[in-house]
Amino acid sequence: MARPTKALIDAQALRHNLQLAQTLSANGRCVAIIKANAYGHGATLVAKALANDAEVFGVACIEEALALRNSGIAQPILLLEGAFSSDEILIASQQNFWLMACNTEQVDAILHATLAVKVTVWLKVDTGMHRLGVAMKDMKDCYLQLKNSANVVDNPVIASHLSSADDFDNDQTTIQTERLTALAAEVNAPISLANTPALLGWPQTRGDWNRPGFMLYGNSPFTVANDQAAKLKPVMSLLSRVIDMHRIPAGDSVGYGQAWTAQRESLIATIAVGYGDGYPRACGNGTPVWIKGSRAPLVGRVSMDMITVDVTDIADVVIGDEVELWGGNITATEIAEHASTIGYEVLTRMPARTPRYLINT
Ligand SMILES: *Cc1c(COP(=O)(O)O)cnc(C)c1O
Repeated sequence: MARPTKALIDAQALRHNLQLAQTLSANGRCVAIIKANAYGHGATLVAKALANDAEVFGVACIEEALALRNSGIAQPILLLEGAFSSDEILIASQQNFWLMACNTEQVDAILHATLAVKVTVWLKVDTGMHRLGVAMKDMKDCYLQLKNSANVVDNPVIASHLSSADDFDNDQTTIQTERLTALAAEVNAPISLANTPALLGWPQTRGDWNRPGFMLYGNSPFTVANDQAAKLKPVMSLLSRVIDMHRIPAGDSVGYGQAWTAQRESLIATIAVGYGDGYPRACGNGTPVWIKGSRAPLVGRVSMDMITVDVTDIADVVIGDEVELWGGNITATEIAEHASTIGYEVLTRMPARTPRYLINT
């Protein structure tokens, strides 16, 4: 016996989604972003599933990169926030980790490091997000210093990050793209700008290198329909089973705080999944759950280990029936909307407790 709660990770879907990213950028190459435990999917599982398909992986910090290296991942790994200390620069040069140089302090540290092996560096420029990146006026100086440094592999990439690419009515994406293109032209450098929403929805942002993350996992980042996003295949299926059934009279309530009251005699199924398994506690009455080929509404509060679902209208539900919380029938993005958040957060919050199993290898 084992707790029935599990996340299946579909390797074929991952490869399909990466291939879509690669196809979208005909002249561009992709850094497959697998930070934050591959958006909750399991970084090592995902890296292994993409081992023959991804050219470079991207993570947030050196701890994530080292964990991948130590599990046998051979690709270069881009550190999206750069090195936080000089010993990290040394490790990066030894391990073929690529450094995003995000401010003049990081640039100086790379220039002054004592390295036996050159390190690959990308220069991040702040084109309007105002989170990371050297100021536009400092770009040329920083770039030429890096380019001429004996510590740095030839031809650094110039990168920037978009603030609003999920919003098609916002000019910011066009403004940032024009800024980065003009800056890169000054020094004749390769460009990297596009994240998932940019790659899917803004062709002009696709550059020499693109940085798809969320799309690899098969959910759309948009609230509107998008032709490219429609081609994605969901990677994670969060599954559990019915572990108890209760027939209750009209007027009785279910769960903590009696947050739902039956308007009719109702059949309630208890499912072994809760916020301790990554199912958002903010999901309210009516959030859909997939059971026996149809949608049933969540009723009552999400507990740590369980939820309750109204299956009055679904025939023959019994203890042991399998339930999909999200996957091929209900998207994580849809669940996120019920929790007033985004699919990125729902997936990234998946805890270690929930076992991940790679399927369709
Ligand atoms: C996380 C991240 C990405 C990936 O963004 P998605 O929207 O998930 O594709 C790309 N670039 C940087 C700098 C990031 O931090």
